[in-house]
Amino acid sequence: MEDTKKQHQIRDRCSFCGRAIGEVGNLIKGPGVNICDQCVRLCYQMLREEAAFGTDGFIDLEHLPRPHQIKKKLDEYIIGQERAKKVVSVAVYNHYKRIRDAVKFKKDGDVEIEKSNILLIGPTGVGKTLIAQTLAKILMVPFAMSDATTLTEAGYVGEDVENVIVRLLQAANYDVVRAELGIVYIDEIDKISRKSESPSITRDVSGEGVQQALLRILEGTNALVPPQGGRKHPEQPMIEVNTKNILFICGGCFDGLDKIVARRLKKNPIGFDADIISKGELTRDYLLSMVEPDDLIKYGFIPELVGRLPVVVALHDLDRVALKSVLLEPRNALVKQYKKLFAMEGIELEFTDDALDEIVSIALKKGTGARGLRSILESVMLETMYETPGKDEVSKIIIERETVLGLSPPKILYRTKKRA
Ligand code: ADP
Repeated sequence: MEDTKKQHQIRDRCSFCGRAIGEVGNLIKGPGVNICDQCVRLCYQMLREEAAFGTDGFIDLEHLPRPHQIKKKLDEYIIGQERAKKVVSVAVYNHYKRIRDAVKFKKDGDVEIEKSNILLIGPTGVGKTLIAQTLAKILMVPFAMSDATTLTEAGYVGEDVENVIVRLLQAANYDVVRAELGIVYIDEIDKISRKSESPSITRDVSGEGVQQALLRILEGTNALVPPQGGRKHPEQPMIEVNTKNILFICGGCFDGLDKIVARRLKKNPIGFDADIISKGELTRDYLLSMVEPDDLIKYGFIPELVGRLPVVVALHDLDRVALKSVLLEPRNALVKQYKKLFAMEGIELEFTDDALDEIVSIALKKGTGARGLRSILESVMLETMYETPGKDEVSKIIIERETVLGLSPPKILYRTKKRA
């Protein structure tokens, strides 16, 4: 009696959420399992979210990941930079949404939504390139990067800038349609400002020529590119790539820009921050978070180019805690990578906490953000990586602070031999 009652109860409930037949709109019954309309909806949503990250390895415009989903994925790879991650997630979502609607309705709507190219401002090694790269990975679009300073080295400025597109085309395996939806990262954009004094550049004095050339591809143009890159050659067939839908992310450290912002703020202190401003307690991070288009123009950019980079966001320095997290937490964190390398040899690798702190201290002294971490680890691990392969008796290696400082080799534990 009790058993039949129980069975009856199970029969009339959703096997997933447990709600009874009267509590849900619809209960679909299968052999030994029921599912309610609400759970079906939830499952559908989950599958759609999965599909949003591409089913055939390419962006699925119909099921674009939402900004919070993009941000969540970015979180897996990038430590800190919360505001930057949020801003780029929204910008990238809007960018592809704009393209989707243009493709779907075969015409641009009455309100033309402008492309939201992005400008990332921040010191070296804090994740600017990583953000651009990871976005492309999340959206499964081709990605290419170029250095703004190299765009000027040859005399033919326009031609050189088009090489940026050549790289994207190569990353897209010469599939023009894919390339036209790709992401391009242009590093060191600050070095082509009119006032930049970078000695490595051989360019027109004002730097304006390169800015103009870049502007053309940022705005959207039919770029004729030689498939192999390099100079255009009369006999070489050209490939036409439209840059209208390519997302450009530019990055640079913009030394001195904070001073321009400070001067403007001091002249015209506003709102809640007026007090801090008048006291002059302004950090570089704070100042860069207040950048406005006018500041960039003062820095030496032509207004048209500034106008084509409507999304501006500053990235902050990585402090001790953040650097340690970079070592440990991202999906492909350096420590995880080394552990895996050693695990392949059947060896457990451990870093003591103060060893990690020491690595961070060295990186902080270098002043190249998280960029320095890899080379520090490489040199710490070199001897061990050289010596250990093939030594089956080693079971565990412990990297201590003294190892990082080069004072002593790592601690090595051996397998206990089986008795004969
Ligand atoms: P930049 O800001 O100069 O473009 P990158 O993005 O190229 O710096 O960073 C260099 C390396 O440092 C990356 O490959 C990554 O391993 C690491 N890194 C930098 N910033 C972060 C971060 N915020 N989170 C995780 N790793 C980071």
